[in-house]
Amino acid sequence: MAKKVLKELTVNRDWCKGCEICVSFCPKKVLELDSRDKAVVVSPEDCICCKLCELRCPDLAIEVLTDQDNDNE
Ligand code: SF4
Ligand code: SF4
Repeated sequence: MAKKVLKELTVNRDWCKGCEICVSFCPKKVLELDSRDKAVVVSPEDCICCKLCELRCPDLAIEVLTDQDNDNE
């Protein structure tokens, strides 16, 4: 299977409550909390598109979009 390429990684700052779950689960340390306790993307180039952050966020604040996600299914 071809390697997924990250197209977009977005954090909805209004929904993020700073629980840090995404930061803990990300195997590549792509995410951090900023000074206002909101998740931010610090190194998108390291993202392996595992989507753990998206799956684990209790507030559905993260969206990972890759070149293999089909928008028109
Ligand atoms: S898991 Fe969700 S709510 Fe928690 S810090 Fe990450 S983005 Fe924010
Ligand atoms: S998709 Fe995986 S590697 Fe990318 S930011 Fe989320 S947890 Fe980290």
